Amino acid sequence: MKQLKKVRLSKAFLKTYKEAPKEAEIISHQLMLRASMIKQLTRGVYSYLPLGYKVLRKIENIVREEMNRANAQEIHMPVLQPASLWEESGRWFAYGPELMRLKDRNEREFALGPTHEEVVTDIVRNMVSSYKDLPFNLYQIQTKFRDEMRPRFGLMRGREFLMKDAYSFHIDQKSLDEEYLNMKSAYERVFIRCGLDFRAVEADSGSIGGDSSHEFMVLADSGEDDILYSDVSGYAANIEKASSIIELVESTEEKKEKELVETPDAKTIEGLAEFLNIPKEKTVKAVLMKEVLPDRQNFILGLIRGDLDINPIKLKNAMGASMELEMMTEEDCEKLGITTGYVGSFEKNDKLKVIMDETVKYMRNFVVGGNKKGYHYINVNLEDLAYDFVADIREARAGDGSPDGKGTLKVARGIEVGHIFKLGDKYSKALNATVLDENGKQQIIAMGCYGIGISRVMAAAIEQNHDEFGIIWPKNIAPYLVDVIIANIKDEAQFSLGEKLYKELCDNGIETVLDDRNERAGFKFKDADLIGIPLKIVVGKGAAEGKVEIKDRRTGESREVKAEEVTDFVRRFIEE
Ligand code: ATP
Ligand code: MG
Repeated sequence: MKQLKKVRLSKAFLKTYKEAPKEAEIISHQLMLRASMIKQLTRGVYSYLPLGYKVLRKIENIVREEMNRANAQEIHMPVLQPASLWEESGRWFAYGPELMRLKDRNEREFALGPTHEEVVTDIVRNMVSSYKDLPFNLYQIQTKFRDEMRPRFGLMRGREFLMKDAYSFHIDQKSLDEEYLNMKSAYERVFIRCGLDFRAVEADSGSIGGDSSHEFMVLADSGEDDILYSDVSGYAANIEKASSIIELVESTEEKKEKELVETPDAKTIEGLAEFLNIPKEKTVKAVLMKEVLPDRQNFILGLIRGDLDINPIKLKNAMGASMELEMMTEEDCEKLGITTGYVGSFEKNDKLKVIMDETVKYMRNFVVGGNKKGYHYINVNLEDLAYDFVADIREARAGDGSPDGKGTLKVARGIEVGHIFKLGDKYSKALNATVLDENGKQQIIAMGCYGIGISRVMAAAIEQNHDEFGIIWPKNIAPYLVDVIIANIKDEAQFSLGEKLYKELCDNGIETVLDDRNERAGFKFKDADLIGIPLKIVVGKGAAEGKVEIKDRRTGESREVKAEEVTDFVRRFIEE
């Protein structure tokens, strides 16, 4: 039996607050501050205090156990990483302002690791030379640094946070595919053990392409991601990636001659449709974006049927862009001679790549910007437009058909707690990590990477498990399983029975705290609810007859139990 450390709240480093500071917007942040589980040092940077740290450690241990069970091997890599390595992979530029950069005393540049593909690939390229050395999977649990644009929501989006990151190395795609599935099941076990309601969804894998990425989403209204899922099949995808089926019927209208008309102040699709008294479906929306590279900018115009929206990630992928797209600014437009609000594409412009969504192909006699302030063309047809190519750049919506042809898409909010990814040769190629294959030929190693936001899991668990009184920890990640509350510490019978039960539970390996504080009983109950310990054992008036009350935090059920039956009762609760 493992030796449990005794925790008496009268001596614990714990303070509870009735209110959370105003800047705490979401419930997990509020409750963790109110229960003094975490303390902010500066924006997006937190200390973990005793109760919070216990939870973090529990999640970490579940992750470690499941990674070990899946035959990944634990290592520990440096946080401090030389810029030269990031230059080799091209990410010194591509990672942008999210990378925390610093210089040493000799003015050499470094980054604080936001992720470790470069470092781990560097280790492997120096140590591995034959296909016989493959496959393997290396992981670590470590503090990561990302200078997030909006660090907020407490542990949800920190600038310093705890991540488990794993990297696997393979001779071929088949071996990578197998490990990907192995990791996918390990992740499912992790989140089941953490007691979370989650879903694995297809995610965007960027320029690498393919269906080679899944995100693990904890379902909660405060989530920052939209998930689209079929109401009948197993299809589920991040909205960034999701495709859908909408009814497209080719218009049979007789084609007319295009005509420039005055449309004063109709700068939006809504305004335009209203002014011309036509449905939005008869208009074409133009969206101007750009890709910013170290030596140049690529300007892009996306065209889509007016009632629909362009998905910027799909547009990026269609372009084959390597950077996330940004909106074009007024200055950009001025430089290119573009009239914002009235953009059309009737002649080729060398400086602007034009990508048209397939929906436009089905339209006839539609309305497009006139490239002249206050004017639009009406009765435009496909052959009037200049464009580079057609692609699916449409954002899927709830209510559209599921892309597998089964059912209708519904939307839910999710918190991304994990992400698995087939990297292929992206990093191994850039860093020249190769092995000799069976025929003695140089082969680039195939890689996978797999992350879990351990500190974010803690926040996500609270977002999903709380009520108006506080946190309701899932059993396996609760800081303690049982809170023995002595209602009145001045009462001899209560005090000695409380101490006795506390000792007995600890001796049986059950993680228990004793609330022996000299406070009103009601105050202690409130704290227990706030902190979210699954079971309260209240040692009150019944103590004289050897009886206590056991209350379940989640169900609110309460029952009287004889002192000698308490340990068995708790054991059954754990096993349930
Ligand atoms: P997000 O889209 O939320 O910024 P990401 O795609 O940048 O996440 P990954 O690079 O895949 O995240 O990192 C792996 C995991 O680390 C994520 O699934 C998430 O759980 C966690 N994570 C990422 N950024 C943060 C952060 N700023 N604070 C806490 N956890 C984070
Ligand atoms: Mg991020």
